[in-house]
Amino acid sequence: MIDIHCHILPGVDDGPKTKEESILMAREAVNQGIETIIATPHHRNNTYVNSKKAILRVVDEFNTILQNEQIPLTILPGQETRIFGEILEDYNKEEILTLNNSNYLFLEFPSSSVPRYAERLLYEIQLEGLNPIIVHPERNKEILDNPNILYNLVKNGALTQVTAASLAGFFGKSIKKFSYQLIENNLTHFVASDAHNIHNRSFKLNEAYDTIEQEYGIDSVYLFKENAEMILDGKLIFKEVPQQIKKKKLFGIF
Ligand code: FE
Repeated sequence: MIDIHCHILPGVDDGPKTKEESILMAREAVNQGIETIIATPHHRNNTYVNSKKAILRVVDEFNTILQNEQIPLTILPGQETRIFGEILEDYNKEEILTLNNSNYLFLEFPSSSVPRYAERLLYEIQLEGLNPIIVHPERNKEILDNPNILYNLVKNGALTQVTAASLAGFFGKSIKKFSYQLIENNLTHFVASDAHNIHNRSFKLNEAYDTIEQEYGIDSVYLFKENAEMILDGKLIFKEVPQQIKKKKLFGIF
């Protein structure tokens, strides 16, 4: 199994602080059946900055540690970038890192809103030959309140990644319900852990895939798993025509 969104590198962001904590996460990942992780440190906030060059170096170091510890897990480089106006300029300055150096780029919105310039910027990112993947849209308040914002972005080519813990219900009922609506309306293309530790923000990938299988069958699970694989090789992923989420459903699944 592949996890394309994970904060596992030691001491780089709000993930594990030490090498030892990172190793515990790695062991837990292997227990979950994960053999490859794309490490996606936050690009920057008030307390840290993680440039492409720095991430590549820490990924190399951590892979060596895993080999020495004989943990059968491979870490690939990635980055989770909070949306900002000059993202393409910084990408061209080799500051921004795509997922495993493919043409798939993780983009995070602020938790409460979607910037007005997002639509234009997502379009420009695609003109540059990159496929933007909006991470955990189900946890964004403005999107929860107005799912059409996300529908329009997906209709115009953006991809999205839903977080395993959201599907498994760890962020509450409404986020869980919305996550399933995203799947049902072809508004999400990847499931990933966004794990930060082994305590309150662990992997939950198995739990998520189990619930997807119960609701939609094993083919749906394969689709998400194959899409994650496609990223590693920079190949085209599978997607269906997105639908608008209908406000009132007669028969909700929860
Ligand atoms: Fe994250």
